[in-house]
Amino acid sequence: MDDTRILEGGCLCGAVRYRIAGPLGEQTHCHCSLCRRASGAPVVTWVTVAPGDFTLTRGSLRTYRSTPQGERGFCAACGSQITFNALNLPEELDMTAATLDDPEAVRPENHIWTGSRIGWLVMNDGLPEREAE
Ligand SMILES: [Zn+2]
Ligand SMILES: [Zn+2]
Repeated sequence: MDDTRILEGGCLCGAVRYRIAGPLGEQTHCHCSLCRRASGAPVVTWVTVAPGDFTLTRGSLRTYRSTPQGERGFCAACGSQITFNALNLPEELDMTAATLDDPEAVRPENHIWTGSRIGWLVMNDGLPEREAE
């Protein structure tokens, strides 16, 4: 994979579009209960980028604190979750891989918070699993 190519993505309704121009960092499936409720899905796949490599090209993100240090950005019109910003880790920005136009560009490396995994979601991809973060 060419980590440095420009990736674009956006929300479901099209009001929010973004571009990532830079290498992709950690790529992980998160099974935590907060991601689950924020997305309405059993797992959210995140890719970490440098905040400076992320640009909104259309619209804006509304933000919500899911924890004291965790700020989630989403489209105010359709609710698509786009970003997770750990306020204690300002050098990292997490993006929802599934909002990329080409989600196949992401290569998930592991599963985290599998201690919260829903039992009917069977995983057999062989990736490492961590019970917590
Ligand atoms: Zn939208
Ligand atoms: Zn999570």
